[in-house]
Amino acid sequence: MALIVMKFGGTSVRDTKRIYNAAGIAARTFNNGDDVVMVVSAQGDTTDMLLEKAEEITRAPSLREMDVLLSSGEQQSMALMAMALGELGVPAVSLTGWQAGFQTNRAYGSARIKNLDTERLAAELDKRRIVVVAGFQGINRYDDITTLGRGGSDTSAVAIAAALNADRCQIYTDVDGIYTADPRIVPSAKKLQAISFDEMLELATLGAQVLNNRSVELAKKYGVELEVLSSISPAGGTIVREVLEMNEGMLIQGVAKDTKVAVVTILDVPDVPGVSFKIFSLVGQKRINVDIILQATGREGNKDIIFTVPAADADTVRGLLAENLPRFGGRDVSVTTDVAKVSIVGAGMQSHPGVAARLFEALADENINIRMVSTSEIKISVIIDAADADRAVRAIHDAFMEDVGR
Ligand code: ADP
Ligand code: ASP
Ligand code: MG
Repeated sequence: MALIVMKFGGTSVRDTKRIYNAAGIAARTFNNGDDVVMVVSAQGDTTDMLLEKAEEITRAPSLREMDVLLSSGEQQSMALMAMALGELGVPAVSLTGWQAGFQTNRAYGSARIKNLDTERLAAELDKRRIVVVAGFQGINRYDDITTLGRGGSDTSAVAIAAALNADRCQIYTDVDGIYTADPRIVPSAKKLQAISFDEMLELATLGAQVLNNRSVELAKKYGVELEVLSSISPAGGTIVREVLEMNEGMLIQGVAKDTKVAVVTILDVPDVPGVSFKIFSLVGQKRINVDIILQATGREGNKDIIFTVPAADADTVRGLLAENLPRFGGRDVSVTTDVAKVSIVGAGMQSHPGVAARLFEALADENINIRMVSTSEIKISVIIDAADADRAVRAIHDAFMEDVGR
C-alpha cells in the first residue's frame, strides 16, 4: 500500500465534468488499496475573477482581506471534490489549509510555510478516507488566513508529500508533462521524460509556469520526486528528480519566457564609489528583488545604471528612485514594463562553449535586439522587447532543438 499525493490545477477542476474526472483518477488509486491525498486549486479562472471583484471595490485592498477572499476559491473546489468522491462511493473529507495544518509566516499574498502539522491529515488517512486539501493556503500566528502566492497549490502538494513521506507526488495539469518550451508558444516543443530539480527550478523561476518555483525548491530540499502529467490524456508525464543520466547532445532542456519584468534605467549618475550601494540598498529596503544589473560607463565622470525588477514592483521603484534622485545624483529615472526575459536552461551548457553565440545568432537572424544579458552555469537570459518575445522563444527553440535527435 502506497501513499500518493495528487494535485489538480485550475483547468483540471474547472467544471463538473472535470471534477468528476479528477475524482475518478483518485478513486481508482484509492480502490487499488493506496492512500490518497488530493490537493485542489480554485476552479478555472476563479482566482483571477476574485482579484477583479476586489479591484471593483478598492484600488488598495487590505492584504489580509485579499487572502480571505482568494482562499475561498480553493475552498469551493475541495468541497465539490469531496462531494463528487462521495457520489463515486469513496469516503472523503475536505480540509482547508489551516485544518490540514499549514502554518505560515505573516506575508499575506506570498506566505511561506513554516510548519505542517500532519496530525489531522494522518488521522483522516487512518480512517481510510481520501483527504481533499485546499491548495495555496494556510494560517499565520494570528490565526489569520494566508495564501502562498500564485501557483501556490503546487507547493501545498509538495509540502504534504514531504511531511507525510509520500511514495509519489503527482501534479495533474492541462499539459501531459514538461516540454522544451511552452507548447502553447512552440507547437513543436518536445516532452521531456525527466528533468533535474536544478534545471526545473531555473525554468520555473524564469517563467515556465507549469510548476511553481517554490514547489520545486521544496521538492529538491526534501527529495520529493515529482511527476507532472495530464488529468485528461493518459500519456506518461515528466519526472522531476535529483540527477539525470548524462544525455550527450542535450545542450539545453528548455526555453522559458517571463513577461512580468520591468527594466529600470538611471541616467548619468556620478561614476564614484558608493553610488550603486546607495541605489540598491534603497531598493533592497523595500524587499524588491533585483535581477540583472548593467553599469555602462558614460562620459564626463558619469555612468548609467540599468537593472531589472519584477513588473509588479515597477511603480514602487519608479517612485522611490525619483524621490531619492538627489541623494545619488542621477539625471533621470525611467521604468518600462514593455520588455520580456527569454531564457535557455540546461546543465549541458556548462561543458559546451558557443551556447551564447548560438542564442545570439538565433536572435540576430530574427532581427531581435538584445537589451541585457545575464548568465549562470546552467542558464542564459536575455531582455528583449515584449513584442518580440514569442518570436524569440520559437527561434531559440528551433536553433537548439533542430539537431537533437529525440
Ligand atoms: P495548473 O492550473 O494545472 O496549475 P498552469 O496553467 O499553472 O496549470 O500550468 C500549465 C501551463 O504551463 C500549460 O498550459 C503551459 O501553457 C504552461 N507552460 C509553460 N512552460 C511550459 C513547459 N516548459 N512545459 C509545459 N507547460 C508549460
Ligand atoms: N488558485 C491559485 C492561483 O490561481 C493557486 C493555484 O492554482 O495554484 O494562482
Ligand atoms: Mg499552476
